[in-house]
Amino acid sequence: MAKYKHIVVPKDGKAITVKAKKLSVPNKPIIPVIEGDGIGRDIMKATRRVVDAAVEKTYKGRKRIAWMDVYAGEKAFELYKEWLPEETTQAIKKYIVALKGPLTTPVGGGFRSLNVSLRQILNLYACVRPVSYFKGVGSPVLAPQKMNVIIFRENTEDVYAGIEWKKGSKEVKKVINWLNKQMKTEIRMDSGIGIKPISATGTKRLVRKAIQHAIAHKLPSVTLVHKGNIMKYTEGAFRDWGYQVAASEFSRQTITEDDVWSKYKGKAPKNKIVIKDRIADSMFQQILTRPDEYSVVATPNLNGDYLSDACAAQVGGLGMAPGANMGDYIGLFEATHGTAPKYADKDVINPSSVMLSACMMLDYMGWGKAADMIRRSIQKTIDKKTVTYDLHRQMKKAKKVGTSGFATEMIKNMR
Ligand code: NAP
Repeated sequence: MAKYKHIVVPKDGKAITVKAKKLSVPNKPIIPVIEGDGIGRDIMKATRRVVDAAVEKTYKGRKRIAWMDVYAGEKAFELYKEWLPEETTQAIKKYIVALKGPLTTPVGGGFRSLNVSLRQILNLYACVRPVSYFKGVGSPVLAPQKMNVIIFRENTEDVYAGIEWKKGSKEVKKVINWLNKQMKTEIRMDSGIGIKPISATGTKRLVRKAIQHAIAHKLPSVTLVHKGNIMKYTEGAFRDWGYQVAASEFSRQTITEDDVWSKYKGKAPKNKIVIKDRIADSMFQQILTRPDEYSVVATPNLNGDYLSDACAAQVGGLGMAPGANMGDYIGLFEATHGTAPKYADKDVINPSSVMLSACMMLDYMGWGKAADMIRRSIQKTIDKKTVTYDLHRQMKKAKKVGTSGFATEMIKNMR
């Protein structure tokens, strides 16, 4: 067993492994957990209680998660004087499936995003964010139940790659001079510069995962969302490479939207997944006005970041928005939202987003029955109008509970 400085490996747990390209999950899997900064402390406590209760009730003691605390962010800095210790990433690599709370990222300076670093170090190239509606939750739109999408956001490239230089720096002058002289551009010398790499490799593996998901779950369409009319060789290429993957690897299961119109009068043949594309700005209005025309969405990093929060807003907000960062096997499951510092340690925030991320984790482990129990219990608790402040302010005649109180109600409501 690996020796760690601060991580304590649970004695009675076993590591998840990969056998014949599939996860092999023991009855007491060791799951690394990063508690996270800010509200992470409250939501992770509540989530662990709820997951343990659902696993216990579903499997009657035959299965149990052996949680293993690993550190990043403020807690890591206290312990190691480092924000992202190497043993944390090593542990996640070894134990394959992990749960994560939000981590603080300074704006406009300071250290690099730990979230972005984790995704890059662990090669978690797909950020997967399902957005669907729980009945009874208040919403700013008229028919929130029409929203049922799963966003596959590329997680390692685009302007998020962290290749940028500050205005006035030695580096930025070098880059601007080179561009202006060699490439005949006219960039102002008082500019900051960021680079937007989008590769065929990064795009194809993301779109492949999105199409595989659509096939596995019998979903009707995969939409490539891009801004390729303006950024032709990055976002436009994303669209072209996406269609190429569909045509070269999934020709039996997919059909393009153009072919649906030119060959089938606009009605897709049964059992075919329609591959379509939308320009990002148009997609933002369509997802508001016609959300039911979209199912799986595959998109570059920045579009995906904006789009997933916008979709979440339609179904009750960030408190209801789960997510996962996926590589070929490693899965790091985390909510869409951040550390919401003004609510830290106040026991008020909605833990559903991390609980639903934990459900995605349980599904991935093949423990879907426990995940379903948690989802049913969230619905039941909302049906009884016992909700945290964020849902309370959008609902009539509801009772407001705190983070821990919501978890307690959920455990009572588990069937
Ligand atoms: P945020 O933490 O996501 O919070 C923004 C607002 O969203 C909150 O003020 C709250 O709205 C609502 N919200 C978020 N989580 C909620 C929950 N569980 N339940 C109910 N409402 C929730 O965004 P931010 O304030 O812009 O970012 C704070 C820090 O988090 C930054 O350092 C940022 O970089 C970081 N961040 C980390 C991650 C990550 O770890 N993956 C992701 C995003 C941001 P109301 O005020 O309206 O109640």
